[in-house]
Amino acid sequence: MIMTYKSTRGNFSTDSRHAVLQGIAPDGGLFTSPEITDIHFDWKRCITLPTEQMATEILKALLPDFSEMEKLVEKAYHGKFEPEDLTPLVQVGENWILELFRGPTSAFKDVALSMLPQLITAARKQTGCSDRIVILTATSGDTGKAALEGFHNVEGTQIIVFYPYGGVSEIQKAQMTTQEGENVKVCAVRGNFDDCQRGVKQAFGEISKKIQGTGKTLSSANSINIGRLAPQVVYYFSAYRDLLKAGRIGMGDKVDYVVPTGNFGDILAGFYAKLMGLPVGMLICAANVNNVLTEFIRTGKYNRNRPFYKTDSPSMDILVSSNLERLLYLACGKNTEKVSKWMQSLSTSGEFEVDSETLCYIQRSFGTWYCTQEETTEEIRDCWEKNHYLIDPHTAVAWHAARRLRESGKSSNPTVVLSTASPYKFPQAVLKALGTQTDGNGFKMIRTLHSITGIPVPSNLSALENKQEKFTDVINADEIVSYVLKELEQWK
Ligand SMILES: *Cc1c(COP(=O)(O)O)cnc(C)c1O
Repeated sequence: MIMTYKSTRGNFSTDSRHAVLQGIAPDGGLFTSPEITDIHFDWKRCITLPTEQMATEILKALLPDFSEMEKLVEKAYHGKFEPEDLTPLVQVGENWILELFRGPTSAFKDVALSMLPQLITAARKQTGCSDRIVILTATSGDTGKAALEGFHNVEGTQIIVFYPYGGVSEIQKAQMTTQEGENVKVCAVRGNFDDCQRGVKQAFGEISKKIQGTGKTLSSANSINIGRLAPQVVYYFSAYRDLLKAGRIGMGDKVDYVVPTGNFGDILAGFYAKLMGLPVGMLICAANVNNVLTEFIRTGKYNRNRPFYKTDSPSMDILVSSNLERLLYLACGKNTEKVSKWMQSLSTSGEFEVDSETLCYIQRSFGTWYCTQEETTEEIRDCWEKNHYLIDPHTAVAWHAARRLRESGKSSNPTVVLSTASPYKFPQAVLKALGTQTDGNGFKMIRTLHSITGIPVPSNLSALENKQEKFTDVINADEIVSYVLKELEQWK
């Protein structure tokens, strides 16, 4: 099976190993396989497998140039997640919740970022690359820690994480600034996630060529890296398998998935699952009040010129959703000229509009709702009171969209809500929703939340309180490039 990886913006083409190593194409486009729409994948066999084997099959199909995928999967996941099947599906009220937060840092990013270091290390060895791989990562809060955890002390790699100063929860910040490891660096940026992401993309553009031949190569742990996206396809299959096992669906029945969305990586993985044959009904893009994607999916107009809101779901406070570019590429018939034009327009005027055929393609698979701050709070309380199930603010945004979908009568398929973080990562917002005082620091709030609900606290979070803060740098967004250059100098 041939899977070439092409830039969404031009003629640049490579194989899956090089695509993973490079992270982003030299022309600024994202590596996407045009063959994904014609892929022959035995999905019916796949959904009979246990999760690790399922992951092996799916990753082999999407990244076929890697050898020994089974070993890589085992190294990535075995014993690292709390439950043996990694991402359990539980029934809550009328819906199903896919718990993606049972990994080492209590966010869904763990699923992909446990795997990515394995893929990068293997790609390095298997392509005979002797360069050290320097991972640059912009984070809205959760990618940073999951990437640090995945890459710390991994031979042949170094990682620098940029997060928005004051833009992440206290617990998220503590997770990152206390990170141990010889090859890690964490830096706050005055600005929001979009500023961090722009700075990192600029660093790729300006530095990648400059350092050729110096024994270092830049790569990315953001979902612009296809090696980050591919592992996320797996849990769409595992959820389907679990519904089948529970007797809630028959083989071939459609299932809707509701996805709390920021950079559009998670939900795009769901679309890949659909292209691979999985009977996916609607993919519902759930957004908070930074609802640029909701507007786009409804109207075909993308406009980032709008106020940026800091919300209780900070990992979704994003106005430029990188992975949308991959969907646009497929939706417009793989026309790289069109994609380039839209992306050019986005970067110069902050907006673009797609043609009606492209929009139709998108609307056939994607629906959307957004959720206000008050509604987010309300959903957390309501879900706790009715079901005694505690959701975090990101999951609450999706829970809201699932409710709206049901009320709209637009679909009668079973609904799977993707739960992307442990409520203990956002104790302040969750306590507020339960109507409890939120005094003291984040760790005190974690204890309060535990005493009210009795839900076990993930050990990785309670352990943070006694850890030493190691990273205190704060810079401006336009200093990201020089910061990276300086770090490259120091890391001999
Ligand atoms: C990253 C993140 C999201 C958004 O996922 P994307 O792939 O960026 O759309 C949602 N919820 C949580 C908790 C996250 O960390």
